[in-house]
Amino acid sequence: MATVINTSLDRSRRALLRGRVRARPLLRPPWALDEARFVDACTGCGDCIAACPERVLAVGEGALPEFDPSLGECSFCGDCARACGEPAFGLLADAPWTLRAEVGDTCLTRKGVVCSSCRDACGESAITFPVTSAVPSPHVDAGRCTGCGACVGACPAAAIGLHASVEEAVDA
Ligand code: SF4
Ligand code: SF4
Ligand code: SF4
Repeated sequence: MATVINTSLDRSRRALLRGRVRARPLLRPPWALDEARFVDACTGCGDCIAACPERVLAVGEGALPEFDPSLGECSFCGDCARACGEPAFGLLADAPWTLRAEVGDTCLTRKGVVCSSCRDACGESAITFPVTSAVPSPHVDAGRCTGCGACVGACPAAAIGLHASVEEAVDA
């Protein structure tokens, strides 16, 4: 019987990846299709990872690419999507994703420690510190935030995560 190999991920492996539960949000490259369609289309070839000039894409579970903002900032150059030979990415003319930064409870300012590293790292001026207490805490303007991840690695307390914007996800 002939053996047909047209992908490095077999069906059972894809089903496992789709059904898994993760402790932290899974971040795919910008312009990646929704998770189910991405897992179906991506062969795990690594072309997008190799194409990224910022080195912010890493090999994840099942050899599939993941965006790791602790490695740096996505510049939205589009090289990852252009490098992919499979129908795993959407159109570059569309929004790259709905990710937005969120500040968690481990933020140093919530313990009375002055810090503004995230604001300094943000090229979109999306983080402000409204003066509501002696040690102001960061506020992310979701309208300005692009989800680039620059603030994530800059935070000394690992307090910032990227999460899909619910409002935009519903509209998408
Ligand atoms: S858009 Fe550019 S910087 Fe961002 S993950 Fe893709 S290749 Fe890397
Ligand atoms: S860099 Fe981190 S610890 Fe510092 S203010 Fe921003 S979120 Fe808080
Ligand atoms: S993800 Fe990027 S744009 Fe959004 S707050 Fe952080 S540094 Fe600014």
